[in-house]
Amino acid sequence: MTGPLAAVARRPRRRSDLAALEGYHSPQVEVAVRLNTNESPFPPPAAWTEALATAVADIEWQRYPDRQAAALRQVIAELHHVAPEQVYAANGSNEVIQALCLAYGGPDRCAAVFEPTYRLHSHIPSITGTRVTVGHRGPDLSLDLAEVRRVVEASSPSLVFLCSPNNPTGMIEAPDAVAAVVDLVEGIVVIDEAYGQFSPWSALELVDDERSVVVTRTLSKTWSMAAARLGYLVGPSWLVADLDSVTLPYHLDAVKQVAGRLALAYEAEMEARVEAVVAERRRLVAALADLAVQQWPSHANFVLFRPLDRAGIDVWQGLVERGVLVRDCSSWPGLEGCLRVTVGTPEEDDAFLAALAEALD
Ligand code: PMP
Repeated sequence: MTGPLAAVARRPRRRSDLAALEGYHSPQVEVAVRLNTNESPFPPPAAWTEALATAVADIEWQRYPDRQAAALRQVIAELHHVAPEQVYAANGSNEVIQALCLAYGGPDRCAAVFEPTYRLHSHIPSITGTRVTVGHRGPDLSLDLAEVRRVVEASSPSLVFLCSPNNPTGMIEAPDAVAAVVDLVEGIVVIDEAYGQFSPWSALELVDDERSVVVTRTLSKTWSMAAARLGYLVGPSWLVADLDSVTLPYHLDAVKQVAGRLALAYEAEMEARVEAVVAERRRLVAALADLAVQQWPSHANFVLFRPLDRAGIDVWQGLVERGVLVRDCSSWPGLEGCLRVTVGTPEEDDAFLAALAEALD
């Protein structure tokens, strides 16, 4: 065979263990109201934008950035009252998870997840060649400790992922449940707190150099900086050293380092945005209660719901036709027919509620 078809046939194939993997997609449809990716509805404080512009003007562009991101780690450490050696930062908390999998996953190792939960907790192990063992949450979608025990005993995972508040359910894990999981697991327990500012408690209180517990956080959500791609982990210093060893040199560019360092000075403004989102979420939840949907109690900036009389995918399509994009979760394990809506501005939420009422009709 010659010609273009032969050239295609000769192309190198990607790893065979990736063949079964679907890519991770949250469809980006061009609509007026996008409530599908749990971003903050508010921009960061104007003072931060101004301070960043000034700081960017001082960057020595001909030089590599600080490889250790020391100043950034320092302010994150101060925020959480830990040592800078206990902080690891990366390009979004997804990349933090990838570093964990590179350091502690790989062939002959597995990561455990409890579905339904954040999809990248199984996707990232898979792309790093780490086997995934899947446990299931109880019928009310809460963590089932007997199931955790079963999975841990059956597979001895090197990594166990919890998520609190859990995406996409919005539910938080109870402190005693997380402590019980930490006692059960010999590997590393990762508590993903991407939405941690909405929770009444944080697993940060469990982090020290003796326990194999890490908490991941992101600036993409409550800090209103999804565009910056910055996330971090707080964990034992020996673990942070392991993560550093699998990290590419200079992985955090100079703009990102300064953007994050300056952002953390605006904690009070961030907390105010959290309060505003919670107030708006209460309004959204109350309005959903008047519609023909089942919903789950949310402690985050999104709400999981299931249309009662219509197929979820039809309602999703009906919303798109009315200019509103939400997340279709109907193919996620245990979430048949479910959709997830991010809390937006009051105007966006009004548009969503009006479109939903029509789409359900
Ligand atoms: N964890 C959870 C639970 C998330 O929902 C998200 C974002 N969808 C992330 C991590 C990834 O966030 P980042 O933008 O920091 O990569």
